[in-house]
Amino acid sequence: MKINGTIEHPRWYDIHCCCGVTTEDKHPIKECLHCKFEQAESSLPKEDFKVDCSIYDEKTGEILEKKSRTVTEVTIFRGSKFEDVIGWFY
Ligand SMILES: [Zn+2]
Repeated sequence: MKINGTIEHPRWYDIHCCCGVTTEDKHPIKECLHCKFEQAESSLPKEDFKVDCSIYDEKTGEILEKKSRTVTEVTIFRGSKFEDVIGWFY
């Protein structure tokens, strides 16, 4: 899996985790930007994966041709303020 758009030290790395020890003091109940961004970053795929790109009949929804392709490369979409991972596409 190749990931485009990685940066060495995105801004959010400098935001410290402000989670406490009790459940209520922890993300996601308590809003902690560090943990939120960390979670988003961990949503990036680590390995190649297959996607369905079969051709369907528009009217009946029946599969006309079964196809799948392997995704080997994704590109990160980052927020401009914190350089956090907002999403990724392939
Ligand atoms: Zn935290």
